[in-house]
Amino acid sequence: MKPLVVAYKPLPDDVVAELREHVELVQVDNAAALTKSLANAEGAIGASLKITPQMLDSAPTLRAWSTISVGYDNFDVPDLTRRGIALAHTPDVLTESTADTVFSLILASARRVVELAEWVRAGNWQRSIGPELYGTDVQGKTIGIVGLGRIGAALARRAALGFRMRVLYTNRHPHPEAEAQYGARRVTLDTLLAEADFVCLQVPLTPETQHLIGAAELAKMKRSAILINASRGPVVDEAALIQALRNGTIRGAGLDVFEHEPLPADSPLLAMKNVVALPHIGSATHETRHAMARCAADNLIKALAGTLRENLVNPQVLEPARAQ
Ligand code: NAP
Repeated sequence: MKPLVVAYKPLPDDVVAELREHVELVQVDNAAALTKSLANAEGAIGASLKITPQMLDSAPTLRAWSTISVGYDNFDVPDLTRRGIALAHTPDVLTESTADTVFSLILASARRVVELAEWVRAGNWQRSIGPELYGTDVQGKTIGIVGLGRIGAALARRAALGFRMRVLYTNRHPHPEAEAQYGARRVTLDTLLAEADFVCLQVPLTPETQHLIGAAELAKMKRSAILINASRGPVVDEAALIQALRNGTIRGAGLDVFEHEPLPADSPLLAMKNVVALPHIGSATHETRHAMARCAADNLIKALAGTLRENLVNPQVLEPARAQ
């Protein structure tokens, strides 16, 4: 008998067909239906939903969970591990698209692309613009990457080779390839904040990175600097950011992620011309979202078969299978 799998995000037709060759698939569209369907399921696949230990209490047969994302902050990983549930994610396939999103936020914020496009649309373009609407250069400036991993390295490549930028970064471990190939220099967070023209956050959300950037850190940035966040909303203390933008502590912000998503329409951020706000689109291209769904489906099929070797968040769960 094929194992029962619950999908809690719409999947492309070819990925559904591939999954159906290996599993019995149930598709749901909300958390309550997911929790109910988990009762007899051996696997789950989806994204963008907080998965709590309580949801898993009534899922005794569950063995594998495949998230269609690289970030896994929606899960209590130690709890999954204790329950013997393997968690797989989708690194690499989304790296380049997400780095493109980060760079579009850098360019849009620096060159005031959204603000000026709205200005044109509103019929304000009567003569050549003056200095009050000028932007600031990106090429040749200093980028500070907080969390230089897969996406951070793709960002460093764009910055150093495409825009001749100086690259600073913080990590717990050095990244020798980025240092050799892009001249990246590992510095303390304080130095990065003090020297970067663009502070780009690309760390995972963990207890250590929650509110990594708050009022004190924003105060250490240059007044001319721009904060870019395409990691996870809670890495930034949003109330402190709003205050810093109001006070002119920093020049502006380019944000793909927020503490509460979807961002409420009455968020003060949306009233600020020096904020570019995107609806969490880091990896949202047709090609990349398809590749992520396929990767997640492959991960799940292999995890259920006990043969998954890569993309595992908690590999220790499948270790007994490996030993066989
Ligand atoms: P990654 O390769 O694991 O890179 C993360 C980097 O952060 C690593 O270099 C790591 O280096 C560093 N790091 C981790 N914990 C840290 C800490 N406590 N303090 C300082 N540095 C820390 O992950 P990735 O594939 O680049 O993805 C990064 C994150 O981007 C994901 O977790 C996800 O939240 C976010 N993301 C967002 C979108 C979007 O749609 N906006 C799309 C994709 C990914 P060390 O281990 O040396 O510290």
